[in-house]
Amino acid sequence: MSEDKNSEYKIVDSNRLDVEVSWVCSDCARAALKLEINQGKRFFSIMTMHEDICDICKSRKSVAASRCFGRLKYRVPKNWK
Ligand SMILES: [Zn+2]
Repeated sequence: MSEDKNSEYKIVDSNRLDVEVSWVCSDCARAALKLEINQGKRFFSIMTMHEDICDICKSRKSVAASRCFGRLKYRVPKNWK
């Protein structure tokens, strides 16, 4: 995800049932973990990675189930989904 300051972002809560965030790459999860809204959260120590499309950045990467990353809130571009 680029850090273009002119872009508008929204926050997606992967804990909500109406948001489909199944797979997340570790890059997106690490970036999300730095956000203030995810303070105090942390990753599960054991997670199974596989290659698939990340639901946040839409890139094909090594991903894990979003619950493995502690059901974080993710910052996504405003036009995401
Ligand atoms: Zn990603």
